[in-house]
Amino acid sequence: MSNLHKEYDVAVLGGGPAGITAAISAARNGAKTIIIERYGFLGGMSTAAMVYPWMTFHSAVGEQVIKGIAQEIIDRLMALGASPGHLRDTVGFTHTLTPYHPEVYKVLACDMLEEAGADILLHTAAIDVKTKDNRISGVTLYNKSGISELKAKVYIDATGDGDIAYMAGDPWEKGNIDGKVQPMTMKFRMRGVDLNKVKDYMQNNPSEFYEKSLISELDLIPLTGVMGFYSQWKEADLPIQRDGLLFFSGPNEDEVLVNVTRVSGLDPTNSEELTKAEIEGRKQVLLLEAFFRKSIPGFEKASVSAVGAQIGIREARRIIGKYVLNGTDVLDGKRFDDVIARSGYPIDIHNPEGKGVTANFIREGGAYDIPYRSIVPMNTTNLLLAGRCISTTHEAQATTRLTPSCMAIGQAAGAAAALAVMHNCATAEVPILELQARLIEGNAELGYVD
Ligand SMILES: Cc1cc2nc3c(=O)[nH]c(=O)nc-3n(C[C@H](O)[C@H](O)[C@H](O)COP(=O)(O)OP(=O)(O)OC[C@H]3O[C@@H](n4cnc5c(N)ncnc54)[C@H](O)[C@@H]3O)c2cc1C
Repeated sequence: MSNLHKEYDVAVLGGGPAGITAAISAARNGAKTIIIERYGFLGGMSTAAMVYPWMTFHSAVGEQVIKGIAQEIIDRLMALGASPGHLRDTVGFTHTLTPYHPEVYKVLACDMLEEAGADILLHTAAIDVKTKDNRISGVTLYNKSGISELKAKVYIDATGDGDIAYMAGDPWEKGNIDGKVQPMTMKFRMRGVDLNKVKDYMQNNPSEFYEKSLISELDLIPLTGVMGFYSQWKEADLPIQRDGLLFFSGPNEDEVLVNVTRVSGLDPTNSEELTKAEIEGRKQVLLLEAFFRKSIPGFEKASVSAVGAQIGIREARRIIGKYVLNGTDVLDGKRFDDVIARSGYPIDIHNPEGKGVTANFIREGGAYDIPYRSIVPMNTTNLLLAGRCISTTHEAQATTRLTPSCMAIGQAAGAAAALAVMHNCATAEVPILELQARLIEGNAELGYVD
């Protein structure tokens, strides 16, 4: 017998970083809420694709620009011994990064949702959407109990790929001007790593690493991330479109998370191409394991301890909303009257077709605003977007997609959905000052708001 309700105020589709904070926020703001997730656990890319660590809660000059529920998650993880909190990023790409234990995050996410009063339904995929008069009238779900219809007053698309808005007929875009998305990456962990040896090698060969690496500070701060080993990588000449290695330490002392595989030119919203990407990604993991053991100091006795349950998807559909956040807005640190979240992460585009990464940093190390209009889709009036599918250009998505940004956007989407229910209005008509007041009450960081 089912304990679930027949109808909800707010239904959040997708249980990744954005969906989790969206559902917590909607429930805390008084809405009867459910979160639907196709896997048997929450966390999205953080858990299913082993994305790690979270980057970043700070601007380049060290101002914390993401707080709220995202910071609560960190505080709770720290209390459980499952995160050391925000540490300096020794790659030097961002000011801080935030390691966390993914298995504890899976449990904590459910605890926080249950404490807020939200219902959770796992192993359930949203497979279709019914619409009438520019409103979603129901979402078709598929799970082991069969096919059913979920009804809510307001829906939040937190599927990462924008599945719900796409099925509802909202306009969308994908990729750069050639329609090519950032490559996919199969992440994996290695254990048995001697990180002291890695550190010694870095201190003795600084020119072999990313120019911003904090190598001169490594006797004072923990080694959190490494980008480089350029000579070893060049010499190995593996068939992987990268120009160096990138890995991060933890969560255990002898462990790293490797972010090096790269599968380019395939579309993650095309199932056949996604299948090819999964197969190719896993092959690259084995190639890399052998390479690390043979060529990288400190990895002689290391081995693969875990591989993502799925390949990591950086970019899929971007749903076009009432405002399309662009790269200039980001780099100028633009402020918007309808700010609902901020981020200090730079534009970081992994080349969709070749090697390398294009990085563009925000002016004066500042942060930019994410406006409410970027989470309101163009057509559907009882839908909001949260996470990496919000309304941006290819360039701006290369920063809004990062986990802490998605968490902050999720909190805003949840509060806005609850207000739309309370005022019985379209999501585009949610009173922005009231929404901002709710977010500030929830400790979100909006910068100075008049
Ligand atoms: C290779 C890679 C490296 C990255 N590196 C970093 C990093 O170092 N630091 C960082 O902070 N971020 C990083 N990111 C970015 C970040 O992980 C993601 O962009 C972020 O997780 C997006 O959050 P989301 O909630 O929008 O989507 P997702 O994390 O994709 O979550 C979407 C959720 O919805 C579920 N779902 C999808 N469709 C359906 C459906 N139809 N029905 C039901 N459920 C559905 C999925 O199973 C998933 O749980 C990286 C991403 C990738 C891929």
